[in-house]
Amino acid sequence: MKAKILICCAVFSLIFAGCTTSGSSNPSNLQYSRQLLLWPIGCNSTHLCIGILFPDVDSDNISYSCQNLTYLGHTGTDIAITQEDMDAGIPVYASLDGVVLWAYDGKYDRCPDENELDCLAPLSEPSPESSEGYRICTEKGDYCRKDSNLTDCAWCNIGGNFIVILHDNHLVFGTKYDHLKNGSITVKPGDVVKQGDIIAMAGSSGNSEGPHLHFEVWSDFFTAIDPWNGPCGTNKDVIYWMDRAELGKHFITG
Ligand SMILES: [Zn+2]
Repeated sequence: MKAKILICCAVFSLIFAGCTTSGSSNPSNLQYSRQLLLWPIGCNSTHLCIGILFPDVDSDNISYSCQNLTYLGHTGTDIAITQEDMDAGIPVYASLDGVVLWAYDGKYDRCPDENELDCLAPLSEPSPESSEGYRICTEKGDYCRKDSNLTDCAWCNIGGNFIVILHDNHLVFGTKYDHLKNGSITVKPGDVVKQGDIIAMAGSSGNSEGPHLHFEVWSDFFTAIDPWNGPCGTNKDVIYWMDRAELGKHFITG
């Protein structure tokens, strides 16, 4: 969640070079239930992403590719952009078809800022429907893990302005998009979204050290998994990304 902004370097060519292209590059040819993840942020040849940090869902402080491009216990993929590009507007896309479960907007979006309460750690214990500092909690509802006997669960997130989308997908239960730009969220709970729909703009709200998208993939409520397959992560061989070889093109590589 807390982005340690990493200025991109040649390491991206190492990360992405030689990655096998997986799945179809044409999502219209995919069965809905076997849709693969679309890169969730609009970095392109004009507005390059400037850094990436990978998940560490097994808490060994090593990313899937056996590098230290992560931090301990990180639950998502952080994709950093410049402040200038954040101000210009970099879109965030629904990575898969789905239905919006939760969306929260209205938090200050230029964190870190020690003078902004929205950027600071909450002082109180979390409770359903509360919003304090950079933490937002859902109301009580059907947000329980599959192995739970409860039906009135709530959960809290420190991503500031964020969206959760649930998917009828063979691999992915949900995706979460954190640190969004204030006032930019275009969806609400219950909305049906298609892969590639613009759902918000990237920002730096919540527990964030600079403009970036924290993109999280879930196998259950609040259960993050690693969509990157490699020898040092929890995911050795499952392909989640639609066209992984393309991803390096979104980054500065010089
Ligand atoms: Zn993160």
